[in-house]
Amino acid sequence: MPIRRSSRDDTPPATGCGTVLGKLRGRPLVHSSSPLETVHGTVSVFEDTPEEEHQQKTNRSVENHLWPTVDGVVSLPYLIAHKLGNKTNDICEAFKMISQKTCISFHERTTEMDYLNFVDGNGCASFVGRRGGPQPVFIGPNCHPGNICHELLHALGFYHEHMRQDRDRYISVLYENIMKGKEQEFLATNASMQDLPYDLKSIMHYGKYYFSANGQPTIVAKTKGMNIGQRRYLSELDVQRIRKLYSCEMYVDESQRSEWDQM
Ligand SMILES: [Zn+2]
Repeated sequence: MPIRRSSRDDTPPATGCGTVLGKLRGRPLVHSSSPLETVHGTVSVFEDTPEEEHQQKTNRSVENHLWPTVDGVVSLPYLIAHKLGNKTNDICEAFKMISQKTCISFHERTTEMDYLNFVDGNGCASFVGRRGGPQPVFIGPNCHPGNICHELLHALGFYHEHMRQDRDRYISVLYENIMKGKEQEFLATNASMQDLPYDLKSIMHYGKYYFSANGQPTIVAKTKGMNIGQRRYLSELDVQRIRKLYSCEMYVDESQRSEWDQM
C-alpha cells in the first residue's frame, strides 16, 4: 500500500539511486605489518566536525575502520533521509565520482548494521573511517557533489591531505591567521602516506583561506601559482590512494578496460 504524504510535506521522497557499482574488482585486504593509516583521532571538515570526534584525542588506526570486502566487492550501504530528497542527485553523483575509478560500490541499505546515514546538517561533515552502526554524513544546503565526495573519502578512512607529516615541504600553515579554536584542523598527523607523493590537487586538501580569522591565507602552497582546495574531481593521486587502501585490482572485464582507458 502506497504511503500517503502529508500535504504539508513538499519534500520529494528520498529514494536513493540504487546500487552504484565500482568499476574495478577488489581483493580481500591483506594487512601489511605497517599500518596503512595510524592517525590522531581528529576528523574535521570545512564543513563541521561532529563534536564527539573532537573529544577523541587518542590515536587510532583507520586500518581497523575500513569497510569490509565481501566476495571481492567493497560496497557501502547507505540511507538518505527523507528530508534530503532534493540532495539525492548530488549524493548519487558523488557516489559515481568514486565508483567510476575504483572498486568501491554503494548500495541502498537493507538490513546491514553498519551504514552511511545521510542526514540534514548545517554544513557537510563526516567521521573518518567506518565507526559501526548508522554513521551520519551531514549534508547542508551548500554541499554539492564535490563536497559530498570529499566527505565520502573521510568515511572511507582518509584524513585531510594538509595533515600529512611531510606537508611542511609543500605548504606553509599561517597559524596567525587561523580562527581561534580551529588550530587543530591544521596539525600534522602521523597518518600513513601510503607511499604516495604529497598532492596539492587532492580533493582532500584545504583551500587557501579555510578557517581564516582575518581574510588572510591560512595555507599557502610553496609551488607558485598552485591552487589548492579544489572540490570538483578526484585527483589521480586521490584515485590511487583509494585503490591502495581498499586493494582494488584488475579491470572487471575488457569492455570496461577501454572505457577506463579514456578516463
Ligand atoms: Zn574534510
